[in-house]
Amino acid sequence: MKAAVWHGYKDVRIEEVEQPEVKPGCVKIKVDYAGICGTDRHEYVGPNFIPTQKPHRLTGRMAPLTIGHEFSGVIAELGEGVTGYKVGDRVTANGTLCCGKCPACKSGHYNICEKLGFVGVGDDGTFAEYVTFQAERLFHIPENVTQRQALLAEPLACGIHATRLVGDVAGKYVVVIGPGIIGLACFFAAKLAGAEKVLVAGIGNEREELVRRCGGEYLDTGKKPLEEYISESGRMADVVYECVGIQPTLNNALHIVCPAGKIMIMGVFEKPPVLDMNLLQEGERMLLTSQAHTDEIGAALDYISQGKINAEELITREVTLDTLVEDGFEELLRNPSKHIKIAIRIGM
Ligand SMILES: [Zn+2]
Ligand SMILES: [Zn+2]
Repeated sequence: MKAAVWHGYKDVRIEEVEQPEVKPGCVKIKVDYAGICGTDRHEYVGPNFIPTQKPHRLTGRMAPLTIGHEFSGVIAELGEGVTGYKVGDRVTANGTLCCGKCPACKSGHYNICEKLGFVGVGDDGTFAEYVTFQAERLFHIPENVTQRQALLAEPLACGIHATRLVGDVAGKYVVVIGPGIIGLACFFAAKLAGAEKVLVAGIGNEREELVRRCGGEYLDTGKKPLEEYISESGRMADVVYECVGIQPTLNNALHIVCPAGKIMIMGVFEKPPVLDMNLLQEGERMLLTSQAHTDEIGAALDYISQGKINAEELITREVTLDTLVEDGFEELLRNPSKHIKIAIRIGM
């Protein structure tokens, strides 16, 4: 079968590889669509999480391996002991890999397993014609949701999970810094959880229309610093989602959140940031983090199915495995702010 195999920095090759074998408790899925995630882009240009020096702590795998974790597909084969699914079912899945034995796993929080892994990073992923998943990680795709729309469920689940960790956002004043797919996922999740007002901040105005249409307000921080917008509004934010992962936006978050307010860190920091602890402490401000998700893909699929999130308008380009490198990864480097989600059509 055809697969996008990661060999190293800027070295993703479209290769012919063996189809995966179905282990007990697992299913083999024919992939229809996959989606390029921010983490896949990180793998492409580094620093990467795919092990290159020593084997992965959970799976024992190392590069080269097939990348990707966002996808939709159809079950092609059932492993021994799988119930609740049949060949032909349309599904997507949570790509978390975990030990099943540590305290986090035992309490159901397998997304923070001590040996945490993810398909496409610690094992072969979804940018391939076939992939295998544990049946317990699968979600049925609702009848009125297309395979193309369903590939958005995974990134949307990240925002829903983070919002559950923030707690009650009903009636709150929320600011999302960074209008990429994760920022937009947090925007939708906060809005749908009843936030009174959600502002999305970013440089440039590519996302302005979408945010406005979906009931938010957009702040172009290329025109004016975020702190100025917020002080002019006369109210500090109750909740700030930091969805960029750089020092200046972390500083922004610290300066606009109210006393006893919460900052949710969603950005992936390539460089360790400096944090002004006094600013946090003097207002009993809380710094929270979020790691992937557990069952929230189900909630994301429901939102899409109920028309509360228009998944189609989040897809800004469609490529194939053959054009993935040039029209997908390289395009994201050329025009980073132009795209929300690039879909990869594989089996449709
Ligand atoms: Zn993702
Ligand atoms: Zn574990």
